[in-house]
Amino acid sequence: MSAPGENGSMIAAIDIGGTKIAGGLVAPDGTLHHRTERPTRRRATDPGEVFATVTEVVADLAADPRWARVDRVGVGSAGPVDIARGTVSPVNIGAWRAFPVVAEVRALPQVAGAPVALGGDAVAMTAAEHWRGAARGFANALCLVVSTGVGAGLVLDGRVYPGPTGNAGHLGHITVDLEGEPCPCGSRGCLERVASGTAIAAWALDQGWRAPAGAPSGATAAAVADSARAGDPI
Ligand SMILES: [Zn+2]
Repeated sequence: MSAPGENGSMIAAIDIGGTKIAGGLVAPDGTLHHRTERPTRRRATDPGEVFATVTEVVADLAADPRWARVDRVGVGSAGPVDIARGTVSPVNIGAWRAFPVVAEVRALPQVAGAPVALGGDAVAMTAAEHWRGAARGFANALCLVVSTGVGAGLVLDGRVYPGPTGNAGHLGHITVDLEGEPCPCGSRGCLERVASGTAIAAWALDQGWRAPAGAPSGATAAAVADSARAGDPI
């Protein structure tokens, strides 16, 4: 890794989600130079087994010669997160509760103690949309992401607002149906149980939809929904 702020420096970005763990080498202007991803071991019961995928993603990135220019690491994780403590407890990754992801990433031999910043994945998305995307130029915005779960982040008075623990604007676990299904978060009828990609696919299957033969994206959605209905946390 290079010294912080050196010319031509790069940022290693890691995105931890309930379905996949992705990594990228990103230039300070936001250009993505290398991307890799692996499926999340979401059924694992051992925290280290889930983290092994992060290790593999970092190894993939470090194999790129441009890794030598990396001087810091950014981690965006499914929430809830605790940016003050550097820990994450993603609802959709049951093995991780108050998992010290910042310390674990910093201890990787390739990272070697370089600065590691943690944010909620939806807050990271919000920062990107405010910097380069749909929220550019707006002083106030709420950016919503629908994937394995439902997340959101806030821009207030021109600045991304993560809140003290990094979970401000995290709408996915607001109850929208008082009689709704129980959620792994402990509540009931959460927005995420209705509107996440996995919930939408499960609903479509319940209504009789079947993926057309040979349609990889549909087949993937169906497989996810089947696993969701089999009792996996979604
Ligand atoms: Zn919930």
